[in-house]
Amino acid sequence: MSQTASSTSDLGAALAAVQARIRAAEVRFERPAGSVSLLAVSKTKPLSDIVAAMTAGQRAFGENYVDEALEKISALSDASDSPEWHYIGAIQSRKTADIAGQFAWAHGVDRLKVAQRLSRQRPESLPALNICLQVNLDAEASKAGVDPTEVPALAAQCAELPGLRVRGLMAIPAPRTDFDEQRAVFAQLRRLAEQLQSAHPQMDTLSMGMSADLEAAIAEGSTLVRVGTAVFGARSKPTHIA
Ligand SMILES: *Cc1c(COP(=O)(O)O)cnc(C)c1O
Repeated sequence: MSQTASSTSDLGAALAAVQARIRAAEVRFERPAGSVSLLAVSKTKPLSDIVAAMTAGQRAFGENYVDEALEKISALSDASDSPEWHYIGAIQSRKTADIAGQFAWAHGVDRLKVAQRLSRQRPESLPALNICLQVNLDAEASKAGVDPTEVPALAAQCAELPGLRVRGLMAIPAPRTDFDEQRAVFAQLRRLAEQLQSAHPQMDTLSMGMSADLEAAIAEGSTLVRVGTAVFGARSKPTHIA
């Protein structure tokens, strides 16, 4: 899983720089101070990088590969302030028990069957699993995510499942070079979330924005940016973003 580890001071500086980008975007787009939080995406990165980021004050980490994540979760389960783990990859049915058992959040829920399994397999000893419904904004056949028109029905069905708490929406739109075009696609997710607000007042999360486009996402209401490269450096292993 691992590649060259970053030094603790480099990671601290990179984290501080990303936090500064987030705070600057909050100011620039008139978002309340502190309304956007950082999910550090540690997929493919060694455990030592996560420990260094924890030392620098980071607590929420995102992972895409279940088996890799389980090793990291187990290695850090005794840490005095153990991380909050978010599963952000595509969810395969055969992995739902591991996700339900080991994570606090799952961001890639895009079909009822998977939601039902996660709910059923969520251990009773744990609070409900926080989920975001992944929306396919670009109608890209290659990408995971529910069609925007199907989001209200899926949200209503998931809200009935006792092991889950529907926290919001997530998307990974294709990158645009133009800032306003990037904003426009994030605005679609914001409007969808606004439509759901009265039926689902507990929804408080818009999981959108990554290293390259977090400013555009914050401009359109992101509450959680998922940032890998800008925190931990480039990933050497090719990764598939579903
Ligand atoms: C890898 C990944 C990220 C982080 O992407 P960066 O461009 O490295 O910031 C965010 N979200 C998802 C779902 C990912 O798979």
